[in-house]
Amino acid sequence: MQFKENIPLKDYSNYKIGGPARYFFEAKTEDALARGAREAKRRGLALFVLGEGSNLLIDDAGFDGLVLKISFDGAIEFDGARVTVTPDILIPHLLDEVAKRGLQGLEWAGGLPGTVGGAVRGNAGAFGGETKDTIFRVRSYDMQTDSFTLRNNAECRFGYRSSVFKEKQGSEIITKVIFELKPGVEKDIRASIEDKIQFRKSKHPIEYPNIGSIFKNVPLEYFLRTYADRAQTDADGKSTDAEIRAKFPVKDDPFPVIPTAYLMSEAGLKGLSHGGAQISEKHPNFIINKGNATSADVEFLIGVIKKAVFEKFGVMLEEEVQRVG
Ligand SMILES: Cc1cc2nc3c(=O)[nH]c(=O)nc-3n(C[C@H](O)[C@H](O)[C@H](O)COP(=O)(O)OP(=O)(O)OC[C@H]3O[C@@H](n4cnc5c(N)ncnc54)[C@H](O)[C@@H]3O)c2cc1C
Repeated sequence: MQFKENIPLKDYSNYKIGGPARYFFEAKTEDALARGAREAKRRGLALFVLGEGSNLLIDDAGFDGLVLKISFDGAIEFDGARVTVTPDILIPHLLDEVAKRGLQGLEWAGGLPGTVGGAVRGNAGAFGGETKDTIFRVRSYDMQTDSFTLRNNAECRFGYRSSVFKEKQGSEIITKVIFELKPGVEKDIRASIEDKIQFRKSKHPIEYPNIGSIFKNVPLEYFLRTYADRAQTDADGKSTDAEIRAKFPVKDDPFPVIPTAYLMSEAGLKGLSHGGAQISEKHPNFIINKGNATSADVEFLIGVIKKAVFEKFGVMLEEEVQRVG
């Protein structure tokens, strides 16, 4: 089986950052995908599944293994409110197709970049909604057992920006997704999607190459423990839920969180730059590529942010982006 060699990955990343893939293979069918994965295993190559590259921090040194890109036929099948799609379908395209048929449930994803596969794997979410909310079944290929599995929603073990597919760290590849939506009115669905798109345009620095939020938001429940540990509020060293809510903006994501962008802003990090990378002024949880940024530039800023936020708030930020290489 022939793989392409030395393919620049920056061309496949929204960030326009990253060195080459040693081997590269585009799978057009489930069968080809299984063959590619089997061959990678036979040759002892590490394998990375590429979606649209909207959440990837690819190392300047590239990836010393096989990058497998899913390029199926992009099919969307409708059976009433049940929608079956291949994982390479782009979220904006899916939203357009379901809106056209008056199906609701995915409006929260207005303006969300990336593929269905990437969204399911990371249980992408925004505006109080999550991918898991409308998932009926997910089919995947398991590299370890060389077999396909069909899971129901509970079996996907979705959590905050996680799933069984993420837990398995790339050894399972999503090959088909079935959503269960609800009947609605096309005009209302489109209006709701458009609201989210406009909100993102006004808040996110999408005029620069970026990979979305670098860090997860901070769960209030964790913040209460860590911030209280630093005896910031009461004489007894405990901050109550009400005290934190009075001092910090708390939003539902879909459970109560303190926005990381707010903590970064309070830590004076907005606009800080290193090499070609900069902590966005518009939305500090985004590190933008202002031109020729390297992964080392971004890693440097990630380190600075973690240290500053820990020193000011006692919070260890957790990364949301996925590293490659
Ligand atoms: C401007 C901007 C805004 C964003 N806003 C949000 C937001 O509001 N909420 C949010 O949750 N995310 C957000 N993101 C992050 C990103 O859009 C999502 O994480 C998206 O779901 C990633 O999809 P992708 O196809 O680009 O995946 P990639 O970035 O290509 O890959 C991400 C991970 O998914 C894995 N993957 C991809 N396809 C498959 C598959 N078929 N099987 C198994 N694993 C697979 C990859 O191996 C990788 O580990 C944003 C990103 C940007 C650039």
